[in-house]
Amino acid sequence: MIEHKMMWAGYCLQKEANSIKGGGNREIRFHALFVLLEHPQYGHILFDTGYGSYFYEATEVFPYSVYARVTPVFINEEDTAKSQLLKLGIKPEDVSYIIISHFHADHIGGLRDFPEAKFVCLESAYQAINKRTGIMALREGFLPKLLPDDFSDRVMFLREKTFSDEFCPFTYYYDVFGDKSILAFALSGHASGQIGILSGKRFFVADACYHSDAYRKMLPPPLMVRMLLGSNREYLRMLSILHAFYQKHPDIEIIPSHCNEVVRKYA
Ligand SMILES: [Zn+2]
Repeated sequence: MIEHKMMWAGYCLQKEANSIKGGGNREIRFHALFVLLEHPQYGHILFDTGYGSYFYEATEVFPYSVYARVTPVFINEEDTAKSQLLKLGIKPEDVSYIIISHFHADHIGGLRDFPEAKFVCLESAYQAINKRTGIMALREGFLPKLLPDDFSDRVMFLREKTFSDEFCPFTYYYDVFGDKSILAFALSGHASGQIGILSGKRFFVADACYHSDAYRKMLPPPLMVRMLLGSNREYLRMLSILHAFYQKHPDIEIIPSHCNEVVRKYA
């Protein structure tokens, strides 16, 4: 089993009611998770990066400025993944791979800080944002300036599916390094081609749900939010799959990227 460590880089403010059925009117923090995984052969690997300091630059001009206005974001240089890793003695160029759940700004905000990393994602996630600019990018929650210029040279797509009922109701997974240390699962719905990763007894599900209560009690965000961000039908289908997974695999901990219960437990 490989070691992993959860950390958070920045946060945004949103009404709780926008993120879960029955949520209150108060504003809550959505901390942006990234995970450091230590692979015996491939070294330091990240799952997402959280926000990065490029966010402000990327949202300076219209229409990208709309993103910053609708979603107030707070990120200091010292809170970025790069700075937090440096404090652990890990240099940016020593990060070998970054597994990208999806291309929203709170998941890819730090990509440009890691010049040697190869990027791993589903091709459908990349195609949904590739070459999109302006309103078309914004519709996908994507800020083009966050992507390194040489992204297309460094990306590797997950292609080979392993069909198995070991993690039912999922019917297949992607064995990222071919050694079963990190398994990726397709979690579409919130964003095209979103993936989560299972490592050891933790299943990082990105934004397939926002709160732990969402997969435990089947509490989706409101229809408006589901429609705005992805496919409503897919979102609900994926949430019911996660709910069934939770019931069938009580030994595996499901970790949504922005759940405050998880932050309180592990931060
Ligand atoms: Zn997202």
